[in-house]
Amino acid sequence: MEYEGQICRAPMERASFMLPVAVGCSYGGCRFCMLFRHLNWRALPLGQIQGELQRVKLAGGSPKQVFLGDGNAFGLPTDHLLEILRMIRQYFPSVEAVNMDATVTNIAEKSDGELNALFEAGVRCLYLGIESGLEDVLRFMNKDHTIPQAYEQIGRIQRLGYTYAAHIMTGIAGKGRGEENARALAAFLNETRPCSVTNFSVFLHRRAPLWSDIEAGRFLPADEAENLREERVLLEHLTVDGLVYDGFHDMIEVRIRGSIPRDREKMLAKLDKAIGDRAHLPPVYAFVE
Ligand code: SF4
Repeated sequence: MEYEGQICRAPMERASFMLPVAVGCSYGGCRFCMLFRHLNWRALPLGQIQGELQRVKLAGGSPKQVFLGDGNAFGLPTDHLLEILRMIRQYFPSVEAVNMDATVTNIAEKSDGELNALFEAGVRCLYLGIESGLEDVLRFMNKDHTIPQAYEQIGRIQRLGYTYAAHIMTGIAGKGRGEENARALAAFLNETRPCSVTNFSVFLHRRAPLWSDIEAGRFLPADEAENLREERVLLEHLTVDGLVYDGFHDMIEVRIRGSIPRDREKMLAKLDKAIGDRAHLPPVYAFVE
């Protein structure tokens, strides 16, 4: 299948069969995000999806887990998603879970009956862009949810049996607010109990709307050393038993991975070393073209 746009999925889905069902993002308003800005959100034709399922079947594929891309596939109409789930089951009856990205709003737009039907049809885990634990930061970044809305919608899916996985970004609160954000985010995550947390750490794209905020002095970026310290506070305060954590700082080539609480001390030690290594270096910012 010819792939349009950018492949974007959490590392926890690296072994899943990546099945594109849509192009772009149904929201597209987050000020820091450049992922799908050049694409118009649209569903891919069912015939194209069926063709991909046929191709993988003929190639001998036998996936246990499927990840529906692109952007936030959960934004597709429920009937359309149910038809895709039916086709997946038809070609691969042994599939145990179908997972995808979603926004909090995507969940809010579906009734309990729709959410239940999707769960019964095989959807198990939704990846949500939680990003920050601070209300004013979510508002500034133009996320399409508030903290109370996130609590409410995560509660709805969990009561039906779904799990959720959180995407977060150190640095999203800006210079001097990393620790504050880490404490607020830890409180949110401890309460909502995701199965995993992926920290993509914020990238400062020169073509994203956030860049005009940086130029105008409305947003002061944190450097990567502050982002590492923020991550340290977050990991110190997470209490969700068995939570899988994966944190990227691609700009300085630091990656922190492990399970809470088993690997906490190992991860903190790695962070301490990375913070210490940066102590006498000039600050690095995650600017990208
Ligand atoms: S961060 Fe996610 S929800 Fe926001 S615009 Fe980018 S892809 Fe869409």
